[in-house]
Amino acid sequence: AHLDRIAEVDDKVHAFLHVATESALAQARDVDARRAAGEELGPLAGVPVAHKDIFTTADMPTTCGSKILEGWQPPYDATVTARLRAAGLVILGKTNLDEFAMGSSTDNSAFGPSHNPWDLTRVPGGSSGGSSAAVAAFEAPLSTGTDTGGSIRQPAAVTGIVGMKPTYGGSSRYGLVAFASSLDTPGPFARNVLDAALLHEAFSGHDPLDSTSIDQPVPPVVEAARQADVSGMRIGVVKEFSGEGYQPGVLARFQEACDLLESLGAKVVEVSCPSFTYALPAYYLIAPSEASSNLARFDAMRYGLRVGDDGTRSAEEVMALTRAAGFGPEVKRRIMLGTYALSSGYYDAYYGQAQKVRTLITRDFEAAYEQVDVLISPTTPTTAFRIGERADDPMAMYLADLCTIPSNLTGNAAISVPCGLADEDDLPVGLQIMAPVLGDDRCYRVGAAVEA
Ligand code: GLN
Repeated sequence: AHLDRIAEVDDKVHAFLHVATESALAQARDVDARRAAGEELGPLAGVPVAHKDIFTTADMPTTCGSKILEGWQPPYDATVTARLRAAGLVILGKTNLDEFAMGSSTDNSAFGPSHNPWDLTRVPGGSSGGSSAAVAAFEAPLSTGTDTGGSIRQPAAVTGIVGMKPTYGGSSRYGLVAFASSLDTPGPFARNVLDAALLHEAFSGHDPLDSTSIDQPVPPVVEAARQADVSGMRIGVVKEFSGEGYQPGVLARFQEACDLLESLGAKVVEVSCPSFTYALPAYYLIAPSEASSNLARFDAMRYGLRVGDDGTRSAEEVMALTRAAGFGPEVKRRIMLGTYALSSGYYDAYYGQAQKVRTLITRDFEAAYEQVDVLISPTTPTTAFRIGERADDPMAMYLADLCTIPSNLTGNAAISVPCGLADEDDLPVGLQIMAPVLGDDRCYRVGAAVEA
């Protein structure tokens, strides 16, 4: 049914870069056979899933939305892919994204943007916009994404679905093509909180193949989603995330969510996190710095594209021609910014300074979590904008992640759940719930209460 739905709508939505029809059907039959043979299978066995095309998959291409990886076939599965395969989930295909996960709209995909199913002229968010569009358009019940600065929560918010960024290190980065290694976090998309928790649980947990993986039990996310009880909880509204730049319809739905939580027995108070206002500039030094280093591996020798290798040119010339042709403008902008920020003489002023801001944000969170159990805010200041509208204005694009980035810089857990439609445009609004490191279950508990 999902393959039929993809065939029916994906020429309009363009959520997928690769649809794995044959292997999906074969996998589904295999699950049936395993079940018939009496094998105990998990709760998601046989359920289809779509993977962001930045997770490696041994049986289908992985492009990262970039020409530089076009035609590359990885030799192995990412841990997220492998664990879901073992749990019997059926892979429908690979979803579109901003090139190397850099962006908030999928405008930066080398293969054209995805469209928001609520209004096809608008973006489905990004960078995991193919994954959010696929779930919102009923092409897949579940999908995976990665969140480095908001790339799961923001697309979930603007397509009216649930998206979760687990605690950093709670889900494995092995086989996830690296953008900013100290921030990158795999997470789930689903149409409701419990489904997201089930997917979260299915791929999370310690992985010896990822050196930053946390060797602790997965927080009880499924139980928390079932509980959906906020009575007695202390909930902090982040004071800095409102006012100028926020769409009135977004703030109105956010206020209603606060009132709802109060009526369900939570105590809602205002909390100030003054350093959060520096999160965006700090992120746009740290993430490009790490990206400039990580993307050095695309050297025309090891993966995908190779341009100008006609026997007359040096390796350096072939590398330069390949990178010039293979990377899009946003990726080049980030590599230049990151290389500059890390260069000798500037390191302390930029990268070093940004790392200090990161510590200040951690302290703000620590102080806040002494007073409250979770923090809440709108997920993103506006509803879905039009395709192309911010494509030539990187600063406007970067603002989409204003509220999501602090939790990335500190590794904390955070979820986006739908909280109604904005009056101005009838488009979905997301509520963000942030929790301390390994407090992922709190996000699900509050999210499920709001949903119910
Ligand atoms: N939009 C942010 C960026 O462009 C975040 C991306 C992400 O989380 N992968 O870097």
